Amino acid sequence: MTEKRSATLATVLDGQLCSGCGGCAALAPDAVTMQISDAGYLRPVQTSELSPFQENYLNQICPGVRVAQAPAGRPDHPLWGPYIAMHAGHATDPELRRNASSGGALSAVLIHLLDSKEIDKVVQVGADPNLPIGNRTVLSQNGAAVFASAGSRYAPSAPLEGLEALLQTDLRYAFVGKPCDVGALRAMMRFDDRIAARFPYLLSFFCAGVPSLAGARVVLNRLGAPEDEVTAFRYRGNGWPGFATATLRDGTTRQMSYADSWGGILSRHVQFRCKICPDGTGGLADLVCADAWEADERGYPIFAERDGTSLIVSRTEKGEALLRSVVAAGRVEAFAFDPAGLAAIQPGQTGKRRLTLARLAALRAMGRAAPRYTGFHLWRNARAAGLRANAKNFLGTLRRIWQGRL
Ligand SMILES: Cc1cc2nc3c(=O)[nH]c(=O)nc-3n(C[C@H](O)[C@H](O)[C@H](O)COP(=O)(O)OP(=O)(O)OC[C@H]3O[C@@H](n4cnc5c(N)ncnc54)[C@H](O)[C@@H]3O)c2cc1C
Ligand code: SF4
Ligand code: SF4
Repeated sequence: MTEKRSATLATVLDGQLCSGCGGCAALAPDAVTMQISDAGYLRPVQTSELSPFQENYLNQICPGVRVAQAPAGRPDHPLWGPYIAMHAGHATDPELRRNASSGGALSAVLIHLLDSKEIDKVVQVGADPNLPIGNRTVLSQNGAAVFASAGSRYAPSAPLEGLEALLQTDLRYAFVGKPCDVGALRAMMRFDDRIAARFPYLLSFFCAGVPSLAGARVVLNRLGAPEDEVTAFRYRGNGWPGFATATLRDGTTRQMSYADSWGGILSRHVQFRCKICPDGTGGLADLVCADAWEADERGYPIFAERDGTSLIVSRTEKGEALLRSVVAAGRVEAFAFDPAGLAAIQPGQTGKRRLTLARLAALRAMGRAAPRYTGFHLWRNARAAGLRANAKNFLGTLRRIWQGRL
C-alpha cells in the first residue's frame, strides 16, 4: 500500500460503490491496477500516489462518485432515458443470431463497422482462456473475432483498464462495455481530447448487474463440474436465452437453464453498486442492445427457448445513422418497437430505476457515501413506485447496512 491512499478510491471502495469499470486504472495506469478481490469482483488496487490532476479527474468520472446524462434535445423517457428511436431486430446471419446473447444485433453492428472500415478494431469482453468462468478484454479485428466474443458473460469485466495503450495508437475503435464503463468513458472525453478521436462509437447493453465469480462457482458446483476440469464456460447464448454451459476436459458438457443460472444463482451474487444503479439501460452510449423478451398474458417476460430478438435503442443521431446503415447493408433486420411495452419485459430495470432513490436515502441516512446521479428522474420514478415499495427498500437497505451486508 502507498503512503497516501486516493481519497476518491477510499470513499468508493469503503462504501462498496465501485462498479469495477477500470476507469481509475485507465487514467492512472502507473498507480492503479484491476485485480480480482477476495469476494470475486474486479477492484482497483493502488500501488502509488495519484497526482492532484488524477485525483480530480477520477472524482469527475468514477461511476462510484457520479453519473450524469442530459437529454440535449432528445426525447427523454423517465425510465429509459434519452433516445432517438427504439427497434427490435436480429442479425440476418442465422449462425450469429444463434451464437449471440439475444438476436446478435450488437455483434452484427460491430462486424459492419469493421467491414466498412469505419473502425480498425473493437474493444470488447470475451472469455478468459486461463479462467473459463472469467473475462478478459479483447481487441477484435474481424467478424470471426466478434463472433467468438458474442454472448453475455455474467462475470466481472473492466474494459477501460488498458485504455491508455489504445489512446497512444492512431487507430479508431468501437467500444463495447457495461453502461457504467461507457458512462465513465463518455465523462473522460471532457478531460482527454484523444478519446473522442480514437473512440467514435460507444456501444452498450442493458445491464442488471455484475455477479462475482463466486456466483459462477455455485453454478459449476450445481452442475457437478469441477472447475479444474472445465475448459470452456458460456453464461448463455447458442439459443435464446440459451443455457449456461460448461465444457469439460473429456469433451462432455453440463447445462443449466437461464432461469436457474441467472434467476436462481447469479443474480444473488450481484455487487452492491448495481443495486443502486439507475443507468442499467446505457444512457450514455450511442447504441444499446438488450433482450426483447416476449411477454405472457400477465405481462411478464417469457424465457422459453426461441430464435433471439434484440431490443436496439439508438441514443444518439450517430447511433441511429449507424443502425440505418447496418440495416441497409442487410446485416440486421429491424422494426419499430413501442417504448410503452418495455416496462413489462424489463421488470428488473423498471424496479431499479424506481427504487434507487429510496436506497440512496438509506445510505445517506446512515452517513454513508452515495453516488450523485443527474438526469435520471429519480423523484418522478420514486413517486411511480408508491409509498409501500419505497418504504420497503429504504428499510431493507438500512437493515443491510446495520448487518454489514452491503
Ligand atoms: C452483466 C450483464 C447484465 C445484463 N442484464 C440485462 C438486463 O437487465 N436486461 C436485458 O435485456 N439484457 C441484459 N443483459 C443481456 C444483454 O442485454 C445482451 O447482451 C443484449 O441483449 C445484447 O444482445 P445481442 O445478441 O445483441 O448481443 P451480442 O451480439 O451477444 O453481443 C454481446 C456483447 O456484450 C459484450 N459483453 C458480454 N459480457 C460482457 C461483460 N460482462 N462486460 C462487458 N461486455 C460484455 C460482448 O463482448 C459482446 O460484444 C445483460 C448482459 C450482461 C453481460
Ligand atoms: S467504479 Fe471504476 S473508476 Fe471508480 S473506483 Fe471502481 S473501477 Fe475505479
Ligand atoms: S448494473 Fe450499473 S453499475 Fe452495475 S455493472 Fe451494470 S451498469 Fe455497471
